[in-house]
Amino acid sequence: MNIQHDDTFLHKGLRNQLVATLREKGISDDKVLKAIANIPRHFFLDSAFDKIAYEDRAFPIGEGQTISQPYTVAFQTQLLSIKPNDKILEIGTGSMYQATVLAELGAKVFTIERQKLLFEKTKKYIFKNKYLNLKFFYGDGFMGLPTYAPFDKILITAAAPYIPPKLIEQLKTGGYMVIPVDEGSNQRMLRLTKCADGSLQEETFHEFSFVPMLSGRN
Ligand code: SAH
Repeated sequence: MNIQHDDTFLHKGLRNQLVATLREKGISDDKVLKAIANIPRHFFLDSAFDKIAYEDRAFPIGEGQTISQPYTVAFQTQLLSIKPNDKILEIGTGSMYQATVLAELGAKVFTIERQKLLFEKTKKYIFKNKYLNLKFFYGDGFMGLPTYAPFDKILITAAAPYIPPKLIEQLKTGGYMVIPVDEGSNQRMLRLTKCADGSLQEETFHEFSFVPMLSGRN
């Protein structure tokens, strides 16, 4: 993979257009939009995608995986309602773009990837010295990260076949889990709030399309 690390005036202009598109599509959280305006998405893609990196589309990142569509990243991030120093667990590091958006918002981010080759790329993370609040892990997201639990919020960026019980255990009372749950080829976005008695309050949003959340490491 050949990555381009030049953020030009043209890229910035395209990013502002993308932000305007996301606003039209209903994203209203200014902090989320500002983070998207600040982060060069083309740094997370092969240079072959340089000209189209700011289209509101998912793109391949290797290993049969994709970088999420900007609208999806913005929607999930908005649902999480991130506050500085929130401790967040992300399942599905993929391109590292979504994790970077969370880190830019000041969260302490713990992100897990099950594909070894994608995890290896995190060692060359371009913003390593900028976001000291972002940590990468190789593992199975169904297991979470018990050592670092509990988390204020948990974000799943792959299509979950069911709500992983171990992740609910690792969520603080009052915390949110944002999770796309499988319903065939599409997934319904859920935001779960963990109540004091351990039960879950569920809000449902519209449908999205994610790559599957798979168990075990690869
Ligand atoms: N957040 C990513 C989206 C990548 S697509 C981004 O911004 O680019 C979803 C990712 O989830 C893929 O890389 C896939 O390998 C990973 N994944 C799927 N099941 C997983 C699991 N059980 N644990 C950890 N990662 C998983």
